[in-house]
Amino acid sequence: MIISRNPYTGEEISNHHELSDTEVEKCIQKAHSRFKSWKETSFAERSNLMMKAAKELKDNTQEYAEAITKEMGKPITQAVAEIDKCAWVCEYYAENAESQLENEKIKTDAKNSYVAYEPLGVVLAVMPWNYPFWQVFRFAAPALMAGNIGILKHASNVMLSANNIQKVFERAGFPKDCFQNLVIGSKKVENIIRNTNVKAVTLTGSGRAGSSVASIAGEEIMKSVLELGGSNALVIFKDANIAESVKTCVQARFQNTGQSCIAGKRLLLHKDIAEEFLDEFTRQVRELKSGDPMNKETFIGVMAKESLAEDLEDQIKDSVKKGAKIILGGKRDGTYFEPTIITGAKEGMPVFDEETFGPAISVTEFKDDQEAVDLVNSSSFGLGVSIFTEDEKFALKMVPKFEDGAVFVNELVKSDPRLPFGGTKISGYGRELSHHGIREFTNRKTVYFNKY
Ligand code: NAP
Repeated sequence: MIISRNPYTGEEISNHHELSDTEVEKCIQKAHSRFKSWKETSFAERSNLMMKAAKELKDNTQEYAEAITKEMGKPITQAVAEIDKCAWVCEYYAENAESQLENEKIKTDAKNSYVAYEPLGVVLAVMPWNYPFWQVFRFAAPALMAGNIGILKHASNVMLSANNIQKVFERAGFPKDCFQNLVIGSKKVENIIRNTNVKAVTLTGSGRAGSSVASIAGEEIMKSVLELGGSNALVIFKDANIAESVKTCVQARFQNTGQSCIAGKRLLLHKDIAEEFLDEFTRQVRELKSGDPMNKETFIGVMAKESLAEDLEDQIKDSVKKGAKIILGGKRDGTYFEPTIITGAKEGMPVFDEETFGPAISVTEFKDDQEAVDLVNSSSFGLGVSIFTEDEKFALKMVPKFEDGAVFVNELVKSDPRLPFGGTKISGYGRELSHHGIREFTNRKTVYFNKY
């Protein structure tokens, strides 16, 4: 039995029968059979259904958002925003998939030569709980539009949302088995990857899970995409607009109660403006309203599981032992963690070296541009970096110096259906969203005609 529990109240919300190996095998069979007809459907047909999925999300936003908030403690206004974004990605791919996947003519000595983007078949998505709808939709919308079939292994603590996602596609009228949620624990993932009817796998989650899934996929010579952790830096150069950048950095770190891969976890401040920035930043963080996630006024909810709050507490305690200083927050009560600011962070401390997955930010000062770049790039993660400066020429000069998958200037790192999303180093490989994302799970077929 897989149980969903409300991290704010502790009460059980729902329980779900875990599928047996035989039942999983049957689901894969059904998915594989569905692929044969789904890949033959026209873009117009798929697009019509995907628009209906967007409408279903918009019509029942509250129902889906409340389930998210109850299951993982995200403040309700942020859960509503998540559902809106899912509707957006459905509409985006409904409108753009056909042109993104049209044959790409390439002039050669052939009469006609081109690249065709064809679906692969059944794709397994292993997904995390932090954005229980968004993580799945940003995979499912392009995958289905490309003609693939999706099977989902969602995080065990958000099975109600996982079932709801399947419901969205069913209510939208997608043919049966185009998208199935498999109610299983992570131990059953290996057999699914080894099933020859499954053609690719994508995982969003921790490095540990990603490494395991990618190793098995590697043994099976199977395509994989990994979206893993991050420890993004927020770099405030000395000419930054302090008022604007403080506001953006508060959002960057504390939205979703800090449980986001692309959150700005390391605040890097130029020494000349460090004091002024930190005073205002601390004032704004102190004002963030904690409370019942179902309350519309709440900005900081609870963490999704108590074990995660304990992990964060350990990382902070260990960093303090190594010389860091807590200047705000630092206390935990069950799943609730106070918004926390830790100064004096440096290499060798968990709050600097590791991913902190909760409402805590580390602060480090730098003396010049080169030191800022070195501090950003010293991380083993490479999801994204935000830099804040009023000088466009300087920003353009700095962009190539960072090793990350994304550089955002005067903005928090965020995902947008129109832009590719993904990391470098231990943050993973492959890209989601935009035309790059939809092509990940396609066979880029080379076609060469010698006559006609
Ligand atoms: P997690 O423990 O890795 O879980 C993610 C998913 O993987 C869950 O469905 C989990 O199932 C499954 N899983 C865990 N171990 C597995 C294994 N050995 N084999 C196969 N599947 C396995 O991660 P999390 O703690 O839920 O999520 C937080 C992490 O995800 C953070 O590191 C965060 O940065 C990362 N993340 C990355 C992105 C991105 O786009 N780059 C986005 C969001 C989150 P169970 O729940 O059943 O264990």
